[in-house]
Amino acid sequence: MGGGRRAVEPDLGRRARVDERKAACSVSIVHPRLRGMLGGADLHLHSRHSDGTLPPARLMELCAGQGLEAASLTDHDTVSGVAEALEAGRRLGIRVLSGVELSAEFRGHEVHLLGYGFDPGDPALLSALEDHRREREQRAERIVARLNQLGVPLRLEQVFEAADGGVLGRPHLADALLRSGLVSSFQGAFERYLNPGCPAFVSRIRFSLDQARQLIEGAGGLLVLAHPHLNLSSANIRLLAEEGIGGLETVHPGLKPSQSRELEELADRLGIPATGGSDCHGPGRGPMCLGSLRVPPETVDRIEAALRGIERRRARAMAGAACSRGER
Ligand code: AMP
Ligand code: ZN
Ligand code: FE
Ligand code: FE
Repeated sequence: MGGGRRAVEPDLGRRARVDERKAACSVSIVHPRLRGMLGGADLHLHSRHSDGTLPPARLMELCAGQGLEAASLTDHDTVSGVAEALEAGRRLGIRVLSGVELSAEFRGHEVHLLGYGFDPGDPALLSALEDHRREREQRAERIVARLNQLGVPLRLEQVFEAADGGVLGRPHLADALLRSGLVSSFQGAFERYLNPGCPAFVSRIRFSLDQARQLIEGAGGLLVLAHPHLNLSSANIRLLAEEGIGGLETVHPGLKPSQSRELEELADRLGIPATGGSDCHGPGRGPMCLGSLRVPPETVDRIEAALRGIERRRARAMAGAACSRGER
């Protein structure tokens, strides 16, 4: 996470800093319905450890500045920013839950799963995430090769420079294309090359639902289905939820109010926490929406209660296994 990205692309860096200054001092980024409401939790945030643009501690400072009582950093496929976020939370007096966002597959659909409250040092989780990091690097290489075949002279080093040590994703390819002047906008890079169906799109390996559950619950965490209607029909959401998801994200910028209500009813019926947040990626990646969507702070109490339930089940399962081996 060096300071190289600003030197490489002064324009983008300057825009990001201006956006950040505006975000830090303006209340207009808070959704009008929520203006003046203090507190709450934003449980869906990305940092530069994946495809966001700010360091974890800076995000937590902005959360504190927005009056949030709780937050979670949920980077894609990495927990490398979690320790910094937890430390910043302690310093700033806000509750921070460990978090991550994994891509998984359910009945042929890509779904995003959030993990909360797990041990960020869990060896099985770290090893699986490391495999995914490597696979994302290989995928970036394949995307660059496709771009080159299309006559777009992007180099892999430029993508690594854009990622600045973060887990590689398509947003870094879009950044690199923009910085090299090969496209005229970040969004244009997706529309022309990177979206599914476009000539440089390459899919990537995803976890199965069971693998994701084992990884997150094995590390003592709660598995939550992220922005359900972005990927699944209502029927599939119900099926997946009934297959044993630990929580549902009911508040997200991609969800309509009617969808949020439907999801809240489903979470209620299943007796699982309803979570949510802004899915903010930082300035330079769409609107600076941190804190603009919040869930009540009791959500964190509910997540913690669910985590205690998972811990009790694990302890019982381990005691059962020891008993069947004849140990005392
Ligand atoms: P990846 O995990 O590498 O496939 O990249 C997925 C990320 O790219 C998402 O989390 C979004 O942040 C971003 N993304 C996907 N599609 C678009 C799009 N059409 N425009 C802008 N960002 C996008
Ligand atoms: Zn993202
Ligand atoms: Fe997502
Ligand atoms: Fe996200």
